[in-house]
Amino acid sequence: MAHFPRRPPSGIKVIIVGAGFAGIAAAIECDRKGHTVTLLEKAESIEEITRFGDIISFDPNGARLFERWPGVIEAMYKVARKTSWLDLYHWKGEFVTRQSFAHEKSWGPRVNGHRGELYDIIYQHARDRGLDIRLGQRVTDYFEDDDKAGVVVNGEKVAADIVIAAEGVRSRGRKIVLGFDDKPKSSGYAVYRCWFSGDAIKDNALIRHLVANGDTHSGYIGPDLHFLVSSLKDGKEFNWVFTHVDDGNIEESWQFPGKIEDCLRYVEGWAPVVQEIVRATPKDARLIDHKLVFRNPLPTFISPKARIVLIGDAAHPFLPTSIQGASQSIEDGVVLASCLELAGKKNVPLAVRAHEKIRYERVHKAQATGVKTRERWHKANWDEIRKTPEAIHLAREAWLLNFDAEKDCYERYGEVVKGLEGGRARL
Ligand SMILES: Cc1cc2nc3c(=O)[nH]c(=O)nc-3n(C[C@H](O)[C@H](O)[C@H](O)COP(=O)(O)OP(=O)(O)OC[C@H]3O[C@@H](n4cnc5c(N)ncnc54)[C@H](O)[C@@H]3O)c2cc1C
Repeated sequence: MAHFPRRPPSGIKVIIVGAGFAGIAAAIECDRKGHTVTLLEKAESIEEITRFGDIISFDPNGARLFERWPGVIEAMYKVARKTSWLDLYHWKGEFVTRQSFAHEKSWGPRVNGHRGELYDIIYQHARDRGLDIRLGQRVTDYFEDDDKAGVVVNGEKVAADIVIAAEGVRSRGRKIVLGFDDKPKSSGYAVYRCWFSGDAIKDNALIRHLVANGDTHSGYIGPDLHFLVSSLKDGKEFNWVFTHVDDGNIEESWQFPGKIEDCLRYVEGWAPVVQEIVRATPKDARLIDHKLVFRNPLPTFISPKARIVLIGDAAHPFLPTSIQGASQSIEDGVVLASCLELAGKKNVPLAVRAHEKIRYERVHKAQATGVKTRERWHKANWDEIRKTPEAIHLAREAWLLNFDAEKDCYERYGEVVKGLEGGRARL
């Protein structure tokens, strides 16, 4: 087994439920900080996690954290999209503006790639660290008292100092932590998503430019719909996604097989390039319609005795237009592991409360950016944008992207704890 830098053992035992990006990142970070981790995942095999999904993005605030996991960022660069810009078009096809991200280099790396491939790199790293990852483990209940927390998994009770519930948007743990079932609302939008080989379009005169000259990244912005296109690995792989109005007739965020004919109806009258991208999609490509739910911010991420904590999508589902869902889930694990390290085994509930205090406002500010971008795009005023094309750029704010969650936590922990102990925050 490879040797990785690790803080001295803290004696803190951690159970993590769910090995999505949030859970696996929390597991690695807890290991880095010297805690002992058991990661429980209901999927029977890792392929069940890696085979779903398409493009996923980690902006500098998320991707910089991978640099601390030896070998991970280097492996990601090999499969990630090699663009430092986004070309934006009017929905009828007119080029409007190129937004460059090159100046953000000093903020940290950006990683955009296939969800499964990027996940697999992290998973292999977790394995190389020797983490205790148990597949085929469906957690059905949670419990806690003053001294410990635990879960019921496959009918058996397992306990530790803390349980981290990272079960994603359909989390059962959320109900147990909150004491009530918070109802998701329809966001009124859904996303069609598709990924296939660049070979399928490399001889198509209208759209071959999207894969023939290396990687590309472009977006077509129209009334209540935006259509994003990427090519990766020097055009060998190709991906499109579009967010559209949805009837909202759905109780929970989920994914349904999509139909090319339905997609074509949405982009009727759009630029020929856009229509051709959809039309040229191979019949066997995996096309899904991903319904997006909205949740009001939860009143809390933590259980009454502060030994169970929700992280990732279980705590705060994101809209894709925020481009932050995955990055915020990585930040969660980093902050929680650091708080546990600073608090020590005797003060686990204090660590959990400090984690919530540090994360709550930031994560909800980040969440709000998703709605802002969607509105800016879907209700674009083209007369204004032609005068000031930057008005349609993605907001790239330093407070969000030029941010080191670990450093911030180390710097602020003492002050946050003082506030908690002084009774100024909810205890
Ligand atoms: C199938 C799928 C495809 C996605 N595709 C994309 C994409 O293409 N692009 C994008 O930007 N985002 C995508 N996302 C969302 C993105 O992965 C998340 O927003 C982000 O990474 C935060 O993830 P998370 O770990 O909090 O939740 P998730 O990624 O949902 O992970 C939760 C994990 O918990 C496990 N789990 C759930 N309940 C239990 C239980 N009771 N016991 C044990 N384990 C349990 C699940 O099997 C899962 O592995 C996708 C999510 C899913 C689930």
